[in-house]
Amino acid sequence: MSEYKNPVLKAGKHKVTSPFGMRTIFGKRSMHNGIDLVGAGATLDYIIAFADGVVKISKNSSTAGEYVELDHGNGNYTRYLHMKKGSRTVKVGQTVKKGQVLGYMGATGNVTGAHLHFDIKVGGKFVDPAPYLDGEREFEKTVNNIKAWQLAAIEDGFKLPKYGADGKWGKECEEVAKNAVCKQRLTYKYKNLTKIVQDAVGVTVDGKFGSKTKAAVKNFQKLVGLKDDGRVGINTWKKILGVK
Ligand SMILES: [Zn+2]
Repeated sequence: MSEYKNPVLKAGKHKVTSPFGMRTIFGKRSMHNGIDLVGAGATLDYIIAFADGVVKISKNSSTAGEYVELDHGNGNYTRYLHMKKGSRTVKVGQTVKKGQVLGYMGATGNVTGAHLHFDIKVGGKFVDPAPYLDGEREFEKTVNNIKAWQLAAIEDGFKLPKYGADGKWGKECEEVAKNAVCKQRLTYKYKNLTKIVQDAVGVTVDGKFGSKTKAAVKNFQKLVGLKDDGRVGINTWKKILGVK
């Protein structure tokens, strides 16, 4: 049992009962978009805010149970599910500080036992919370993916005249994404956008759209359920950036 740099439990220690990722429940494969935790020694504990933020949701739902969602800006959110009935300490719109108690672990909603389901969205997209809890990744310093993409597009010579790099996905972004496509060739004139693709598909980030990048794009497309043609079209961009 280790201590965590960025805890979500007051004692600063937790045990993972179900990690982030694909899992099988009642014979069905599904995506677990968060991490399930109990306290050290399988004990219960107070749930604390993972980072400074503003309460976006604090309510009871049939599936998530008593839960709280915090907005940390830049498209970054954290959620704390299945809290004990009546234990929530925060209201919508309230500002909270890192480490502030939000409630107590419980078994409300759709669960088999008491635990905390904790999830993180970075740039509007669910990511594995483990590296953030361990302190391998800095949550407060994570970038807004869409804003980074917009800045890269502007550097590559695209124009976003109305809204600029506002961090929000809209019609202007759709237009740029349609044009910033790898077509029939393996060369890619948009160096910065290529780097974003390479970072997303897990190959060396050098800004050159070569055969390795194309193969990795195909692999990525297969994983997210797109046609694996190795071309970064609008649907692939949306998956890369986690936008609908
Ligand atoms: Zn969970």
